[in-house]
Amino acid sequence: MIKKASLVLLSLLAGVSLTAQAADWGYGKSNEHWAESYPMCGLGKNQSPINITSALQTNLAPLRIKYDGKITDITNNGHTVEALVSGDNKLIVDGDTYTLKQIHFHTPSENLINGKQYPLEAHFVNVDDKGNIAVIAVMFENGLRENNALNSLLKNIPTKGNTIDFTDDLSPNNLLPREREYYQFNGSLTTPPCTEGVRWFVLETPQYSSKDQTEKLHQVMGNNNRPVQPINARIIVE
Ligand SMILES: [Zn+2]
Repeated sequence: MIKKASLVLLSLLAGVSLTAQAADWGYGKSNEHWAESYPMCGLGKNQSPINITSALQTNLAPLRIKYDGKITDITNNGHTVEALVSGDNKLIVDGDTYTLKQIHFHTPSENLINGKQYPLEAHFVNVDDKGNIAVIAVMFENGLRENNALNSLLKNIPTKGNTIDFTDDLSPNNLLPREREYYQFNGSLTTPPCTEGVRWFVLETPQYSSKDQTEKLHQVMGNNNRPVQPINARIIVE
């Protein structure tokens, strides 16, 4: 009986420490400590983000993006601002079908394209029915005009730890550029636990937004870009 009780206590303690650990990561200097709690962040050989360079020219299958649903909520989890979706939002590539789970942002961009860092990068996180992850990344460049979709999305940004309803009629499609040419490579989550086996699709054509829009997001999120990681044996195709 005592043994059983202490086992319960032990697992409770383990649960508590896991929760504490999960909240315990950040950017900037604290980025250097991710691997202490999340080994893959340090040991992985296929980590994201990367500087996309020397891409191999191939005949890639087109991305079939059928995001017909809507954005329903905006949440601020303290690491990023995230848009949640409902309805039918599918990504089909090479015969694999993924469902869009959420869209979130990084200021400045995490991936670089030929050494160039953009002020903003959006990640469209898609998951298939086996739990495999495919991320579509879209760069935003500062332009002269405001981006209408971003304007609608960022009208009200929740404060850290809060979620708000989003009632505008905005499809995830509205955040994508019309051109869908892409770079493809294998990588990881760019946040702990840095899980690998993520298929990355970085769109070659950036979107444009105003400097004010990027700054508004940056004010809320701060610098939430993981530094670029070694490419190692990976091949980037386009
Ligand atoms: Zn991301």
